[in-house]
Amino acid sequence: MRKPLVAGNWKMNGTKAGISGLVARLVADEPSGVEMLVFPPFVFLDQVSRELQDSAIGLGAQNVDWREQGALTGEIEASMLKEVGCSYCLVGHSERRHLFAESDGQVASKFEVCIESDLIPILCIGETLEQRRAGQTMAVVADQVRSVVDIVGLAGIARGIIAYEPVWAIGTGESASPDEAEDVHRNIRQMLKQRDSKTAESVRILYGGSVNRENAAGLFVKENIDGALVGGASLVSEDFLVICKAAAGRMEG
Ligand code: PEP
Repeated sequence: MRKPLVAGNWKMNGTKAGISGLVARLVADEPSGVEMLVFPPFVFLDQVSRELQDSAIGLGAQNVDWREQGALTGEIEASMLKEVGCSYCLVGHSERRHLFAESDGQVASKFEVCIESDLIPILCIGETLEQRRAGQTMAVVADQVRSVVDIVGLAGIARGIIAYEPVWAIGTGESASPDEAEDVHRNIRQMLKQRDSKTAESVRILYGGSVNRENAAGLFVKENIDGALVGGASLVSEDFLVICKAAAGRMEG
């Protein structure tokens, strides 16, 4: 049984005080039966790590560089993330791929360095609206997964998590329907199964893209949707907790 997981990507949002309040409200009401993760901006990681000390909520970074420390102004090394208490890291978020031109190769290197540094990578994949309309969804996500498998192998993928996030659904208020998402999740699992059925069955595949308190439960009833990567709604503690509790309900149901 894959344990449900809900991750909150806070992107470039928050203040010291605002984030403290948000963390306190999550800690006060954290449900069991679901793994909860938060991904604050880099500068707040140390603070949030201390605030989560007595909580089961996990901490992750939104990005990492794949190289060793040195003359790379503005970049952050994996060991630095470990040192401030991170256990997880997003790699290949669509904003990184599209706004910062990250290539599949760079995303694969980031995934690899996470594994080598004992950080659990969450590999974000997903198609644009044009690609969906052209019927290329599965080809696009399969390529994105394959470019990582080529570097880290199936054993590497087994140590990470996949988040299917259609680009057209991120921050738009227009989520994929449960059936649309499940279709892609099932196909990703099927694709992994062709190489190794044990890995395919154990890897968690999250859905991301305008998940909110209203649509979360409908997504989580689907067999291959193991949780969510949540942007906007993760900044509102009450909404994020409703989503987490819906995922915990998946375990009970
Ligand atoms: C995200 O940033 O990964 C995301 C899914 O954002 P939103 O939930 O706001 O669409």
